[in-house]
Amino acid sequence: MVEWETIPLLSEKNLRAVIRNLLSDEGIKPRKKLSQSFLVDANELRFIADNVGSVAKESRCIVEIGAGVGNLTAFLASLNIAKEIIAIEVDSRFAKILKKMQEAFSNIDVIIGDAREVLPSIRGCEVVVGNLPYHIASTLLVLIAKSMAKVAVVMVQKEVAERLIAKEGSKRYGKLTVFMQHHFNIEYIKTVPSYKFYPRPKVDSAIILLQRRKEFDKFSELLEHLIRCLFSYRKKILGKAIKKCVNIPQLYALEGLQSLWRKRVYQLSVKELEELVYTIAKQETKN
Ligand code: SAM
Repeated sequence: MVEWETIPLLSEKNLRAVIRNLLSDEGIKPRKKLSQSFLVDANELRFIADNVGSVAKESRCIVEIGAGVGNLTAFLASLNIAKEIIAIEVDSRFAKILKKMQEAFSNIDVIIGDAREVLPSIRGCEVVVGNLPYHIASTLLVLIAKSMAKVAVVMVQKEVAERLIAKEGSKRYGKLTVFMQHHFNIEYIKTVPSYKFYPRPKVDSAIILLQRRKEFDKFSELLEHLIRCLFSYRKKILGKAIKKCVNIPQLYALEGLQSLWRKRVYQLSVKELEELVYTIAKQETKN
């Protein structure tokens, strides 16, 4: 029987044992295909919760994606940062464990469901947190950008974190980078090594802070559509790639864009791509 209130007080060694026992008591074997690797380092869990606390000031509610056994949820709840924590978990095998945790903390709501469907339906919650399931991390990041979230503290695979902060012209720079950097100021907070998880994943992870820069709107839709197309021609020069993505012949004659046509798609900065989309949007309204 777990004393949930005491979870945030445990040392790393004890927490690992508690989580292992919790899983074996319920007969649950972690599923790789659902990215079930649990963060069992109390210092890292506390670090994430503290970071959420410092950016979530006066927020009414926090959404947690992928609550699992509730290890991070317990740290968040014990800090009393928000009136309400909505913990989303797809695997119903964790329902009983999470229900017991709810009895210990009055500020937790649990939703058993797919975060890809649940998140878009949540209203009035401006903070998102989670050790994101790695197999769908990119999809979830895009959904966070499309949500009401003003701020998010998320853990992702280190390689995904590097894509989020990549600079134009680099190997990791791509459509996810551009889409996310358009919507958020992004900070790479720290690397979390794989041995801090149970079961141990193959790769390290990283904690990322996203702070809202732009809301998702009509412009974002056009940007999303354009970068999806352009980055499928990532090494082509823009002058050629653009012809495959938009049909506005007068675009090439426009003064402001002349410096862009000879650049390769992956060499275009977020600002340049924003300008391109802005010009396209203006031309489309004229046509
Ligand atoms: N929160 C725990 C932690 O920090 O250790 C678990 C994180 S684990 C990396 C990812 C969790 O996301 C797992 O519990 C997994 O079952 C859950 N998950 C996977 N796919 C999901 C989905 N589509 N919607 C919601 N949760 C999902």
